[in-house]
Amino acid sequence: MIHFLLTHPSQSKTSAYKLCKLKVHQLTTNCDYVISLKNPRESLRNLGANLHPLSYKWIQTFLTWLTGMPYKGEEITNNSRFYYLASSIAKLGVGVTASAWLWHELTKIIVLQVVPYLVIVGAARDLLPSIAHMCIHCKFTGNRKTDHFISDCITTLLFLQDSEGYFVDHIKKHHNINMFATPEDPDAALLLRLGFHPGLSKEAYWQKLYQTMISPSFHWFFLKRRFLSNYVTATLQRRIMALAWLIIIVTIVIQTNSFSTFIVSWVIPLTFCYHISALCQYCSEHLFFATSGSKSLGRFCGEALPKASFRECPQAWIGWLFRMIFYHLPVRIAVLPGTLPEHDFHHKYPSDSNWMNGKYSRQREIDAGVQGYVDIWGLHNALDYVFEHLSNTPAIFKD
Ligand SMILES: [Zn+2]
Ligand SMILES: [Zn+2]
Repeated sequence: MIHFLLTHPSQSKTSAYKLCKLKVHQLTTNCDYVISLKNPRESLRNLGANLHPLSYKWIQTFLTWLTGMPYKGEEITNNSRFYYLASSIAKLGVGVTASAWLWHELTKIIVLQVVPYLVIVGAARDLLPSIAHMCIHCKFTGNRKTDHFISDCITTLLFLQDSEGYFVDHIKKHHNINMFATPEDPDAALLLRLGFHPGLSKEAYWQKLYQTMISPSFHWFFLKRRFLSNYVTATLQRRIMALAWLIIIVTIVIQTNSFSTFIVSWVIPLTFCYHISALCQYCSEHLFFATSGSKSLGRFCGEALPKASFRECPQAWIGWLFRMIFYHLPVRIAVLPGTLPEHDFHHKYPSDSNWMNGKYSRQREIDAGVQGYVDIWGLHNALDYVFEHLSNTPAIFKD
């Protein structure tokens, strides 16, 4: 059994320290490494403390990126949105190239595509829920037309929802105080459409999640929506962009006779894998259908350091490292990349111009004693938290 922190440790113990006890069998070991009441990020700030200050800074900068949370009082490492855009596109290129090379030159074993797929999906998720999202809020260049054009270029490249449709769904509905987290919110409506109705047992939601991930009808449903928003409901300019991109892709594939590589290195990661990543993000994003209290949460990746020293309990440290590398890191790359961990801060300040440094702004508020933030560590805990909430919500929206 593992304990994880639901509310921020800066809040008073009586009202806000609420520990949720979950059975997370896969995370248990024989050693007493159970996370303390401290924020896991504060525990992680001890890592590398005895090293050279520069090495320590690098380790902590990496951990801030990996977890999605700076430690208390951490100095801001300024992130540029243009660098973020360029690096996301470069990441997509590297991932696709590595996947194609692996498939074409080395092996046809699809399982070995895991690493390139993580990079490709992560880049695509960087580009949509962080950069295109920023553009939809008109916070990338600050010019609405330019931002929408950038968003249209991104969504054309990835065959995703056009900027006008995204604007209506996200700004006019998801951020509308009267619609947010109600069945009229497109994100909540999607969950209802997929069968995540309130009032089921928590186990039923987990089962539904696993079934949906591999359900052909789910992937077909997602693809159909993408097709409609690219070729039917978008503006004429956006439809022409989508058609032109399709012609370019088909021409390249025919000219290079690379149909199987195209399917393996582009279609599979950007459809099947992308849909699974988006599903996990939607299912852990908000407390949908809640009628009071905070409907948002901060989702962070990582765990506190083992309490015992390495000498006392090496297996606890090996287990911790294993989970950090093979669970939390892939989740951060492909499911909760970019600014998704601090999505609650975004809902609090949707017009914040310092978007790229939202995690620092959020931390500054907490350091200053602002209450109401909910921190969940580990994607599985965030999903469980939302499923628990859905399970306790009256089944009033069931059809
Ligand atoms: Zn949201
Ligand atoms: Zn938004």
